[in-house]
Amino acid sequence: ESVVNKIAAGEIIVAPVNALKEMIENSIDAGATSIEILVKDGGLKVLQVTDNGSGINKSDLAILCQRFTTSKLTTFEDLSSIQTFGFRGEALASISHIARVTVTTKTKEDACAWRVSYSAGKMLGEAKPTAGKNGTVILVEDLFYNVNSRLRALRSPNEEFAKILECVGRYSINAAHVGFSCKKFGESQFALAVRASSNAKERIRSIFGRAVASELVEFKMPENMELGISAHGQVSNLNFVSKKAISPVLFINNRLVTCDPIRRALNQVYASFLAKGNKPFIFLSLKIRPDLVDVNVHPTKREVRFLHDDEIIEQLSSQLENTLSSVDT
Ligand code: ADP
Ligand code: MG
Repeated sequence: ESVVNKIAAGEIIVAPVNALKEMIENSIDAGATSIEILVKDGGLKVLQVTDNGSGINKSDLAILCQRFTTSKLTTFEDLSSIQTFGFRGEALASISHIARVTVTTKTKEDACAWRVSYSAGKMLGEAKPTAGKNGTVILVEDLFYNVNSRLRALRSPNEEFAKILECVGRYSINAAHVGFSCKKFGESQFALAVRASSNAKERIRSIFGRAVASELVEFKMPENMELGISAHGQVSNLNFVSKKAISPVLFINNRLVTCDPIRRALNQVYASFLAKGNKPFIFLSLKIRPDLVDVNVHPTKREVRFLHDDEIIEQLSSQLENTLSSVDT
C-alpha cells in the first residue's frame, strides 16, 4: 500500500494510441520478439496486441488489472533501481475501467493458455483454459464505451489509426530486435510489417522512406559514467534535402517521449541546415540512469524531466556536432 500512496495517481488514456503505447511497452518488457497489432474503427472497436513474450502466470491474473499492481516494482525503493521508468501498474487498470479487456496468455511452463475478461479492474469470472501459443494476447474492445466526452473529442477512425501506425513505426525503430505488424481488422494487407532482426536504419527506410534512410549517419555517445547516460541513434547528414518536418523519434530508456529542451538543442546544431528550409530526421535512443529520470511525471505526459539536463543536453549537442562534421559533405 505504501507504493500505492507514494506513486503519482491516475493515468488517463485519452486516445486509443495511448492504450496501444502501454501495451507495446508491456510486450517489449515481457521480452517479446514479435508484436502483432489489430485495429478496428481506429482502435475504438478493437485494439488487439499479440506478443510472444513471457506470458503471465495464472496466479497473477486475478490482480492483473488492479491499480498499482505491477510485476516490475514491489517497493518504493525499487524506483531507483528499475531498468526503465513507467512501471506503475496503472496502464491495464486504467484501460479496464474504460473498455472491455480480455487477456489470453500462456507461459512456457503452462500446458494450455488461460483466458479471462476484466471490467473496472476486476476479473469477470474464472480464468478458462483455452488453446494458445506462448505469449500474451490483450484484446481491448469498445474503448471509451462509458466515457462519452472522450468519444466526442476523438478524431475520425482513420485519423486515430494514423496515430496508431505512427506510434508502432516509431517503436519499431527503437526496438529493432522485435518484429512488428499492424493491420486493420478484416483487411488482409498489413499497414505496417517489419521483420525481427533488421536494424534501425532498415526500419527507418520502411517507415519514413528511402530518401530519409539514404542520408543518415550513425550517432553514438559512449557511456558517460558521471552523468549516467549513453545514447545511440541515426540522424540526417547535412546532405539531406527535405522540407518535410518529422518530429524527432526520441526514446529515453526505451520509452517514446518528447523533450522540448533536447529538441531545441538539436535544432541549434542543425541551424544552418534549417536556415535553408531543410528538416532533419532524428532518431535518438538515450539511456539515462533510472534514478536520474523523473518517474513521477504524469504517464500520459510524454514530456520527461531528468537531472543534469543541461550537462546531458550539452553532451548530446557536441556529440551531434562532431558526428555531422565528420561526414563528407
Ligand atoms: P506496469 O507495466 O507498470 O507493470 P501495466 O498495467 O502496464 O503495469 O501491466 C501490469 C502487469 O501486467 C505488468 O507488470 C506485467 O506483469 C503484466 N503484463 C501486462 N502486459 C503483459 C504482457 N504483454 N506480457 C506479460 N506480462 C504482461
Ligand atoms: Mg506497463
